[in-house]
Amino acid sequence: MAATARVTADDVVSHAINGRLSKHALAGLLTPEARRTFYDACGRIEQRYTNECRDMNDPCLESGCSAEGDRCLQPLLRAGIDYYKTCGVAWAKLFADAANRDGSWRITAAGYEVGR
Ligand SMILES: [Zn+2]
Repeated sequence: MAATARVTADDVVSHAINGRLSKHALAGLLTPEARRTFYDACGRIEQRYTNECRDMNDPCLESGCSAEGDRCLQPLLRAGIDYYKTCGVAWAKLFADAANRDGSWRITAAGYEVGR
């Protein structure tokens, strides 16, 4: 179709829940307030991965897994796309409410080439 990419909310959501957009990219589509909620949700997801990592009793780093309260990056790298998908689902819940969408989300999303 034409070069005028008409990005719909559905396009962005399907990209998000398929783990194709980074946390940073997703945050850019939300209002500053919703962005904080989103980062909090991601923080909980990261913490869960970290706890699972620590519970394996096989520290991912020679120096041991990250200290209490810190987030370990190793399980996130291992989870890869699953981590992005989980964040995407958390993001989609916020984005579903038009009040949480950044005023120029369509333009921003077009820059992510989700219209394809
Ligand atoms: Zn770890």
